[in-house]
Amino acid sequence: SGRVLIVGAGLAALRGAEALRETGFSGTLTIVGDEPYHPYDRPPLSKHVLTGATPADATTLPGSHGLDADWQLGSAAVRLDRAAHAVHLADGRSLPYDRLLIATGTRARPWPNPHEGRLAGVFTLRGRDDARALRQALAAGPRRVLVIGGGFIGCEVASLCRQLGLPVTLVEPGPTPLARVLGRTVGGFIGAIHEGHGVELRCGSEVEWLEDEGGRLVRAHLVDGGRIDADLAVIALGAVRNTEWLDGSGLSADPGGVDCDADGRVLDTEGRPDPHITAAGDVARFPHPLYEGRRVALEHWSHAVAQGVHAGRLLAGTPSNGPYGALPTFWSTQGDLVVKSAGLTEGADTVAITQGDPAAGRFVALYGRAGRCIAAVSVDSARWLPAYAELVAAGAPFPPRGTATDRPKGIEI
Ligand code: FAD
Repeated sequence: SGRVLIVGAGLAALRGAEALRETGFSGTLTIVGDEPYHPYDRPPLSKHVLTGATPADATTLPGSHGLDADWQLGSAAVRLDRAAHAVHLADGRSLPYDRLLIATGTRARPWPNPHEGRLAGVFTLRGRDDARALRQALAAGPRRVLVIGGGFIGCEVASLCRQLGLPVTLVEPGPTPLARVLGRTVGGFIGAIHEGHGVELRCGSEVEWLEDEGGRLVRAHLVDGGRIDADLAVIALGAVRNTEWLDGSGLSADPGGVDCDADGRVLDTEGRPDPHITAAGDVARFPHPLYEGRRVALEHWSHAVAQGVHAGRLLAGTPSNGPYGALPTFWSTQGDLVVKSAGLTEGADTVAITQGDPAAGRFVALYGRAGRCIAAVSVDSARWLPAYAELVAAGAPFPPRGTATDRPKGIEI
């Protein structure tokens, strides 16, 4: 019994609520979300929704209605009062809790100049409304598209524009697309595949400002003096965690996430766990047991599911269900190309192509750090990945015996 409050009505919230009810919890469950929608799936938004194959509204996740929950949708939480055990909403109401799950996720990092960010033809992509608007613009006839930022979402949108037959330029300040997450070697291989499909890459450059005519985007100016004519720009500069509503709560939170202990309990600014509050999904930053307890915040669909379930069991009042440490996994569909990963590449000191051939567009890259396997990435070869994921989960020696023997031991990251 008791009152459970979940703030944020996304994937982690839904999985948390389901896990809570599965424990037999029969108390009051309230779920607050600032969007007017029940939880929906975001991965299709940068894929099938943009091609028009899936309507934006068809992304609703099943399961919301069987939860016996009081859904407070379209209301943002603006403040957490831990002393009073209450969350204040933008409309002035306040909701009490005995136990609280923080699952407010992230939002798209906005363009630094708000005026340019609001020009007609300039988009970000995080939610269902963003995807609907971008889909309409892409479908409205021939368009020259500019994608700013070569992370996963930027690469997905750029490759999809080529599938739609639209000319597209991708500007990325790093040496290759995906260099920050996958390193420049693997990023370079993937970039070459996209170039082969007609994506124009401008790596090592940055957009300085966006020019408009009568409030509509016409071109982008690069810091190196270059110009790119464009009718449409997609800003894909990564994500910011939705933690502002926790300001003043005494919890340890900043735009990089809200801190949790190994069990998933949220920490205060003194580093003490609050026994009544847990967090899950993109917004949570936690010590990962596979990576020497390094604190990480993940933006992976499968992580929102696994940590949501873990948090739901904590909400049921179990003193602890042990530390959370699922192997991070991720996928990205970029046009016809499917990139999958297991583990975290951050901090890798070497990478080896262990199977397949980058020149043929199908390969597995294995990442090592201090003589251990820490991550594996498959490009169009997902069925090879599980064997490497096992090595990563076990922290097996790098390079592993029986692989990489006739291959370069390691190439520059
Ligand atoms: P969210 O899904 O962001 O849900 C949080 C909810 O809380 C949102 O509805 C938000 O509006 C709401 N909220 C925020 N602040 C407040 C507040 N103050 N009060 C009330 N509500 C609030 N992952 C993959 O592994 N593979 C993919 O291919 C992939 N593709 C993606 C494509 C796109 C376009 C996007 C945006 C993400 C993609 N992801 C992908 C990432 C994956 O969708 C996220 O990791 C996952 O949605 C995280 O779930 P969450 O519940 O933590 O956060």
